[in-house]
Amino acid sequence: MGTGNLKLTICHLYPKLLNLYGDIGNIKALQYRAENRGIEVNLKEVNAGDDIPNADIYFIGGGQDRQQVDVSFELQKHKDFLTKQRDENKVFLAICGGYQLLADYFQPIDGEKLIGISLLSGYTVGGKKRFIGNVTAKTEFTTPETLVGFENHSGRTYLTGSTKPLSHIIVGNGNNGEDLTEGARYKNVFGTYLHGSFLPKNPHFTDYLIKLALNNLSEDFELPPLDDTIEMNAHKSLINKPY
Ligand code: GLN
Repeated sequence: MGTGNLKLTICHLYPKLLNLYGDIGNIKALQYRAENRGIEVNLKEVNAGDDIPNADIYFIGGGQDRQQVDVSFELQKHKDFLTKQRDENKVFLAICGGYQLLADYFQPIDGEKLIGISLLSGYTVGGKKRFIGNVTAKTEFTTPETLVGFENHSGRTYLTGSTKPLSHIIVGNGNNGEDLTEGARYKNVFGTYLHGSFLPKNPHFTDYLIKLALNNLSEDFELPPLDDTIEMNAHKSLINKPY
């Protein structure tokens, strides 16, 4: 079956609080790559105080520790709903500060512990030195296997339980600068430290997320190829770029 009758709802969580280094580009990449396959996209923005709607893909960006305080508080109200969405295999993509809050907690170096919603299992502690620079990592989920982006964080994330790394570091620091892991995955919940924006430079991973979301709607579909020359040129230009 083609993708003609399919509709995807994408929910952008707290864009007014968490949206660093062009994180909005991730939403635009999902929308562009879905719409160019004839898939209708319904985009919903959720801000503090709003209910969270049913969606196929949830996106949350990165931000400063201060904004994370408000988002940690907001997310607690929706923990049960979002846990149910995760367990129905809905797709989540969380960047940096949003990633930290989808896991168990973030303990900043000099502030109160911020409680997460444990869609991923793992925790983050603040470090003295920020990790700032280019990242190349390798994942087993896509072809090509490389993921590229830009990291800027003080938090060190350590994964626990059934949550596995999204990728393994070739250049950069990733989760904690120690164990060569970058990002996380549990079910269809993905976290990563890669900003940049992440998805426009990783079109293969964007399609991977779209396919996972469409899998929940129809088992039998094919994503027609798109001309990715520009996107893959950007991707290739960053592979192994010095930190
Ligand atoms: N405040 C977090 C940290 O520095 C998140 C930063 C970000 O989202 N870029 O670890």
